[in-house]
Amino acid sequence: MRRYVMAGNWKMHKTVGEAVELARAIRAGLESQPPDLDVVLCPPFTALQAVGQVLKGSRIALGAQNMHWEREGAFTGEVSPAMLKDVGCQYVILAHSERRQMFGATDEGASRKARAAMDHGLTPLICVGETLAERESSRTLEIIGQQVEKVLRQLTPDEVARTVVSYEPVWAIGTGRAATPQQAQEVQSFIRKQVARSHGEGPADALRILYGGSVKPDNVASLMAESDIDGALVGGACLKADSFLGIINFSAP
Ligand code: PEP
Repeated sequence: MRRYVMAGNWKMHKTVGEAVELARAIRAGLESQPPDLDVVLCPPFTALQAVGQVLKGSRIALGAQNMHWEREGAFTGEVSPAMLKDVGCQYVILAHSERRQMFGATDEGASRKARAAMDHGLTPLICVGETLAERESSRTLEIIGQQVEKVLRQLTPDEVARTVVSYEPVWAIGTGRAATPQQAQEVQSFIRKQVARSHGEGPADALRILYGGSVKPDNVASLMAESDIDGALVGGACLKADSFLGIINFSAP
């Protein structure tokens, strides 16, 4: 049985004070009714340490939104896996489509970063997704297949079993237009079958594949009902405690 992951990508939002307030509210909201799933908060770099302090002793994990693959060096403006570990990160988002589109992130870079994440005891949460033009020209599975092959290339079967992949159609991110559960399921079962061929059935069964793109409290349950959707990467709806808690508690009566 794969355990759901609900991850909040705070993007470039929240000062340290605001981040602490939001993390406290999420922690408090989960205290009385801890859900049986993994929750990850990914604030901006500047707030990682402070949010990490708020989460100490809870079951909520801390994640970063990006990193470099080197341990240290002359890489102005970059943050290393060792630095993320040092402030208590357990996860790191890699190759988010905003980084692919605006900051030159590539599958090759994600592959090196995934390797580095594993080497430093961080769980990579790797994003893949097609653009609207690619979907409209019926290239979705081809594009996703290439991305998945490249980003997982440097990981062993054992490591793939501990990895998280997030299927995030670019056209669904921040648009309010989520993929239908059937659209997401089609791509995510395709990813799992491809990973079974590249890394084996066991790792493919264990790999957690999230869906991301306009997930909200009112559409999360129908997405999670699909057999290959193992959680969500949430942007806009994770910036308020109530809506993120509504997503986390999607199965609560
Ligand atoms: C994201 O940033 O990964 C994301 C899915 O954003 P949103 O939920 O706002 O579409």
